[in-house]
Amino acid sequence: SLQAAKDYVHKVYETVKQRNAHESEFHQAVKEIFDSLVPVFAKHPAYIEHGILERLSEPERLISFRVPWVDDQGNVQVNRGFRVQFNSNLGPYKGGLRFHPSVNASIIKFLGFEQIFKNSLTGQPIGGGKGGSDFDPKGKSDAEVMRFTQSFMTELCKYIGPDEDVPAGDIGVGAREIGFMFGQYKRIRGGFEAGVLTGKGLGYGGSLARKEATGYGTVYFVQEMLKDAGLSFDGSTVVVSGSGNVSIYAIEKAAQLGATIVACSDSNGYIYDPAGINLDTVKRLKEEQRARISEYVKEHPTATYHEGCAGIWTIPCDIALPCATQNEIDEDAAHLLVENGVKAVAEGANMPSSLEAIEVFLNNGVLFGPAKAANAGGVAVSALEMAQNSMRLSWSFEEVDAKLHEIMTNIYRNSVQAAEEYGHPGNLVVGANIAGFIRVADAAIAQGVI
Ligand code: GLU
Repeated sequence: SLQAAKDYVHKVYETVKQRNAHESEFHQAVKEIFDSLVPVFAKHPAYIEHGILERLSEPERLISFRVPWVDDQGNVQVNRGFRVQFNSNLGPYKGGLRFHPSVNASIIKFLGFEQIFKNSLTGQPIGGGKGGSDFDPKGKSDAEVMRFTQSFMTELCKYIGPDEDVPAGDIGVGAREIGFMFGQYKRIRGGFEAGVLTGKGLGYGGSLARKEATGYGTVYFVQEMLKDAGLSFDGSTVVVSGSGNVSIYAIEKAAQLGATIVACSDSNGYIYDPAGINLDTVKRLKEEQRARISEYVKEHPTATYHEGCAGIWTIPCDIALPCATQNEIDEDAAHLLVENGVKAVAEGANMPSSLEAIEVFLNNGVLFGPAKAANAGGVAVSALEMAQNSMRLSWSFEEVDAKLHEIMTNIYRNSVQAAEEYGHPGNLVVGANIAGFIRVADAAIAQGVI
């Protein structure tokens, strides 16, 4: 019954809160999913009998380790490293590594928990994991980044492998860091295990279109949402927060589809250019020079720079793509976007909207694409990279891009269908959570109590 389902979800959520005291981001991710699943437990009490939520919300393993390294001045530095191996019912643990000062157990667990359901939605054979460190690559020399990542991998390599756990990038971890980590792993193992990491360089086992995949995938997902509502990117005004890997390629694809992208940001502030952001400049500043986005206005006098990144949501737009970080859109920002006429919001970042912000979007008829569906393109192409590595071949850009497009369309369709089937038509938060959950839960039941 509905009441039994509600009681079950409530009981397990209370246990999660107790066991993981003060881990607010983890609680937030768990609450969003648990609340969505009530209609599933009401219809299929077997999931309750199998203790599915109790099992899914407790990581299979959480590894925490010391990462000592020496900086350019010769000082010893110590950072903290993490890897959460959350769930392996569908395949080897899969998920990125984040290097950012805010990283702690709560952040890694929220990301790892999300990853279980996101990876399930892709339809690929990958379980859920995540890792990272509170190391800040900003302002560090290449040599410092190399020493840190080598030390990080010296410990992490004990727990990963192409059939065990396959990390990739996330915030602060791009091609440079993946390259250093792959080199160190290869050196310690004494063999070329290409499939141990994804997001590798194209010259040593990386996949074409992996770099573009998260941003392109988010835009492909939004294209489907818009199509069903009789709308399109063509002629629309778009705001994209962030200026990292996700943001850059979301901007690129949206612009190709005829949108004008008027703003993007970094952790210090945002640029606004009503004529449309020049992506070549952003790419050069961010991918090559590792500079601040504020530098942009020196080259483009039509643009203005504004301190603080939250202000980006005051800009009127048709489509908002939060591609920076968790909880970047709060309730007030969501109200402002709605008042300014936003028609669609899709999450390129992980959990960029607070629970209250999501409510505001859903209650005001905004098309809303939740992170685990909308940004699944990155990890989906990571799974395609693993497949290519296993076969020792590489597909063309067009081939990978076509597969990505198909995967994003399927995620959209499956989410729409699950939402309808369980009584919440049009609610993609509920739809994505349910569709992602069912595949993992059925595999967990089939594999027994483990
Ligand atoms: N960090 C990305 C994500 O959140 C990619 C993970 C991966 O490719 O393994 O999905």
